[in-house]
Amino acid sequence: MTHHIVIIGAGYAGLMAANRLTRRLSPGRARVTLINDGATFVERVRLHQVAAGHAVPGAAVPDLLRGAGFVQGRVTGIAPDRRELRLGSTTMTYDTLVYAAGSVAGLEGAAEHALTVSGADDTGRLRDRVSRLGAGGVLAVVGAGPTGIEVATELAERHPGLRVRLLTGEEPGVRWSPRARAHLRRVFDRLGVEVVTGAKVVEADASGARLADGRFVCSDAVVWTTGFRVPALAREAGLAVDGHGRVLVDETARSISHPDVYAIGDAAAVRGPGGRELRMACATALPVAGQAADAIVARLGGREPAPLRFAYVVQCVSLGRHDGLIQFVHTDDRPRAVTLTGRPAALVKELVVRGAFGFARRGVFPQLPGATRSSTRSEPSAATSANAPEASARR
Ligand SMILES: Cc1cc2nc3c(=O)[nH]c(=O)nc-3n(C[C@H](O)[C@H](O)[C@H](O)COP(=O)(O)OP(=O)(O)OC[C@H]3O[C@@H](n4cnc5c(N)ncnc54)[C@H](O)[C@@H]3O)c2cc1C
Repeated sequence: MTHHIVIIGAGYAGLMAANRLTRRLSPGRARVTLINDGATFVERVRLHQVAAGHAVPGAAVPDLLRGAGFVQGRVTGIAPDRRELRLGSTTMTYDTLVYAAGSVAGLEGAAEHALTVSGADDTGRLRDRVSRLGAGGVLAVVGAGPTGIEVATELAERHPGLRVRLLTGEEPGVRWSPRARAHLRRVFDRLGVEVVTGAKVVEADASGARLADGRFVCSDAVVWTTGFRVPALAREAGLAVDGHGRVLVDETARSISHPDVYAIGDAAAVRGPGGRELRMACATALPVAGQAADAIVARLGGREPAPLRFAYVVQCVSLGRHDGLIQFVHTDDRPRAVTLTGRPAALVKELVVRGAFGFARRGVFPQLPGATRSSTRSEPSAATSANAPEASARR
C-alpha cells in the first residue's frame, strides 16, 4: 500500500515539508496530505504590516502545493498508537505524521484584555482597534523582542498621531550589537515610540497596564507580543514534550517517543550547534522542515538519514516600511559586531521575507556553508515543569 504522510499545520514548516516531500517522492511511493484549520496561508512574518493596515495579499493553501492533498479542518486529537487523527467527527490514518502545528499568542492570565498579533483573526482585531483610536490615542505594546519592536515601529510609522509606548524588562535589542541598539534608539525617537524599561506587566485592562513595581501605564489598548505558546495537542496525545509542550525530537527531527512522528517549526524543540535549543522562527522552521522531509525520504528508501545541519546567519527586523535592522550573528545565534541599518536593511528584510515564502512554496531551502550538525537531544531540565508559563525563545 502507498505510504501515507500526514502533516498537521500549513505554516512555513508544514508547507515546506509538504512541498519538499512531494518534490522528492514519486506519487507511487507515498502520498502526502496537509491539514490546516484555515484555507489561506498566513504569512505570519508580515502580520505587523497587517496590524498597521497595509494590504498583504493572501494565497490559498491548495494553490501553493506541488502535489500534496489538502484537507481544511482542525485536528482535535492524535492517537499515535493507532496512527490516527481526529478531525471533527471523522478520523484519518497515517503511516508517518509530521507535526507542524506552530504557536499561538501566549496571553498570560493578566492580559486577557490585551490584543495580539499571532494569526489572521486576532491581527485583524488589532488593526481595527488601532484604526478606531485616532490621533492622540495611546497604545501600549508589551514586549520588546523582535515582534514587539516590529509592531511598535510599524504602527507608529503608519499612524503618526498614535502615541506608542513599548513596555519592556530590558533595553530593546539588549543582546544585539551596540550599533544596533543605538540605531533602535534613533528610530524610536524619530517615530515617537516611548520606551518604558524595567516594566514587568502583571495586569492589563481597558485603561492600561499595571507593572510589578506598582507603576500604571495608561493606554487605550494593549498589544501583547511576548510569550508565544504551542498548542496542547502533542502533549495530550502522549508525545514526549518539553515543559513548554514542544515535541522533543532527535537529530533527524523525529519524536523521541514515537518514531512514526516528526515535529518541525515552532511546535518542535530542536537543538542546534552547541546543543542550544533553536528559537521559534521562520528562519528555524524552513531548514529544519526541509531536512525532516529529507529524513523521511531517506528512511522510506531504507537509508540512514543525515543529522540536521543548522546555522543562523542574521536576525532581521523591520522598523516600519523604510527602515530596518539586520544583525549578523554567529552560527549559534550570538550577535557579531556587524549590523546593517536603514533603508538597505529594510530592503534586505523584504527580500528575506519574500525568499521565505518562495522557499516554502518550492520545497527548497538554502544549504548554509557554516552549518553544523544538530546535537542529540538532551533530557528536559528539571527547570521546565509541565506547567511552565513562558514559551521558549522566540525569533
Ligand atoms: C508579527 C510576527 C513577525 C515575525 N517575523 C519573523 C521574522 O522576521 N523572522 C523569523 O524568522 N520569524 C518571524 N516570526 C516567527 C515566525 O512567524 C514563526 O516562527 C513561524 O511562523 C513558525 O512557523 P510554523 O510553520 O511552525 O507555525 P505557524 O506559522 O504558526 O503555522 C502553524 C499552522 O498550523 C495550523 N494549526 C495549528 N493547530 C492546528 C490543528 N490542530 N489543526 C489544523 N491546523 C492547525 C495553524 O492554523 C497554522 O496555519 C514572526 C512572527 C510574528 C507573529
